[in-house]
Amino acid sequence: MEKLQKEGYSAFLNEYFKEHSDLFLQLSKSQKPHTMMITCSDSRINPALLLNAQPGELFITRNIGNVVPSYLIEGSTQAAIEYAVNVLNIPKIIVLGHSNCGACAHMYHEPKEDEPTLPHVEAWLKNIIPAKSAAMLEVHHDSSKNLFELTEKHNVVVSLQRLMEYPYIQERLVKNKISLEGWWFDIGSGKVEVYNFTTRNFEPVLENVEIT
Ligand SMILES: [Zn+2]
Repeated sequence: MEKLQKEGYSAFLNEYFKEHSDLFLQLSKSQKPHTMMITCSDSRINPALLLNAQPGELFITRNIGNVVPSYLIEGSTQAAIEYAVNVLNIPKIIVLGHSNCGACAHMYHEPKEDEPTLPHVEAWLKNIIPAKSAAMLEVHHDSSKNLFELTEKHNVVVSLQRLMEYPYIQERLVKNKISLEGWWFDIGSGKVEVYNFTTRNFEPVLENVEIT
């Protein structure tokens, strides 16, 4: 184990774990997370930190580009959603996108000859094509808009739309047993914008959040 990892683990055990030992004892028996979060693998995104959440609160699945693939194909993200909704009965799913997302930016990348080939990345990022098309159309109508940010936000919306195609989520939506939210996190400012299904815009939540 590298020194950095050893020190990190030692600090966790002696500080955080010690302080929360009762919580961990309780969690050792079962989990009852209140929210599923689907977010990007990006190292700068830390859902628990963002929500000040403790272990046991968030059921998180990550992939590059916070993608929700179609219900009709198999994959680990689909399995995580199925388990979260049908077994853990989680009442809320948040799709969390973010600024400066490499997956979304890659959609516009022109590969150079000396670059490594990325067959798995290329195949996976096909999931983001609808978001890219929607963003390009929007920039075509208003060139002052930021293509990358739009792609990131459309990508969150496409993931929400795909979630609504999962039959067991549809069932729960009709009965008001589940809610879906789309978030976009701006890394540089810490700002979060939430998708408004009525206005179809991302709106800042800062005015509703107490900053002390
Ligand atoms: Zn990303």
